[in-house]
Amino acid sequence: MNKNKITILVVDDTRYNLQILSTMLVNQGYAVLEATNGIEAIELAENHIPNLILLDIKMPEMNGYQVCVNLKNNPKTQQIPIIFISAIENVEEKVEAFAIGGIDFINKPFHLIEVLARVETHLRVSSLQAQLLEQTKLLEIQNISLQKEISNLTGFNQDLYSEVKEAIDTQSLRLFYQPIVNFQTDLITGFEALIRWQHPQRGLLSPIDFIDIIEKTDLIYPVGRWVLETACQQLQIWQQSFPKHADLTMSVNVSTKQLTEFNLVEYVRQTLQEYHINPQSLKLEITESTVMGDRDRTLQILDQLKDLGIQFCIDDFGTGYSSLRRLTDFPIDILKIDRSFINNEEWIIVKAIGTLAFTLGKKIVVEGIETTRQLATLKTLFSSSLDGCYGQGYLFAKPLDAESAAEFLTNVRIHIPLVVG
Ligand SMILES: [Mg+2]
Repeated sequence: MNKNKITILVVDDTRYNLQILSTMLVNQGYAVLEATNGIEAIELAENHIPNLILLDIKMPEMNGYQVCVNLKNNPKTQQIPIIFISAIENVEEKVEAFAIGGIDFINKPFHLIEVLARVETHLRVSSLQAQLLEQTKLLEIQNISLQKEISNLTGFNQDLYSEVKEAIDTQSLRLFYQPIVNFQTDLITGFEALIRWQHPQRGLLSPIDFIDIIEKTDLIYPVGRWVLETACQQLQIWQQSFPKHADLTMSVNVSTKQLTEFNLVEYVRQTLQEYHINPQSLKLEITESTVMGDRDRTLQILDQLKDLGIQFCIDDFGTGYSSLRRLTDFPIDILKIDRSFINNEEWIIVKAIGTLAFTLGKKIVVEGIETTRQLATLKTLFSSSLDGCYGQGYLFAKPLDAESAAEFLTNVRIHIPLVVG
């Protein structure tokens, strides 16, 4: 430590004490500031920010305690270590010196050698503390840049993560509902609950903008629970308000991660009970990749949920990889044929998936139906199994907010003009 750069403020109303302390410290190579009263001491401390203060307690006008409190309350001077020097014998008063922020106490009459030993010790401690603080700051900066680097490498977007977290807290997530219609009756039989984000600046966002960060992080758990609860609550309202739709179903998307959530089965059971939902009315949509994951673990959870009476759909079927074995091993009720096959009018594939589903005793939901021609073709393709065929798509309705979905329910039958030929 270069003593020339170290300044010590000595405060004592007794000139003699001030002089011998100063002389001793100057002889040791320290720069010394002197004050004979509290006001002067505070002024010097503020202007020069000394490395340490030796502070007398008994002084007229402003005593050492008051000076100390003043310095500790000032952000500029609060870090300066203060050693009290006093003839006070009372233990309580000595303790008071530590309570208000002093770091040491030297009794008068003092021995110069002791004062010096304590001054040097405390200067070393405060220098080490300063170094530690500096290194902590440096580590924080390195940590932030490392996090950014990791974000860039992994594609993890910390800002988006925080924003979605806030959206959960501020209840800015919304559920929209897309009708599902039976081919034989042209009646709406249920809805698929789809998540949206009412963003404060960017408006209503679709899942493509944010679902990745939810599914890849721990956000999936609170969001998953919120979706299930909100959808069940809404289903209860509709089933009760529209007696004709007492059997209305609700499809809820579930990710692989959610299936591993602790106590999921019990949670689903309780939610169904809370909203008086017949388990048959709830359909959980899982993906082909979930089906193809850890077979035993997934099967165990699906079987337990199935025991509650819930139905399972495989979402976007035909775009991923499924094994036929798992289709029969797993308790799957419905295959949802991916929209891309309808879009591209790949009717042979659509027909093949439908035939596979019916052969295995499952039903189908055809996604992405947009035109009456597509619907007519599908009805022709599956003319012998129309009761097991359902459709979803803009032809019937886009995903609707709860209010519009309720309006949709009042129209019991969907009138789609059929184009034949
Ligand atoms: Mg889905």
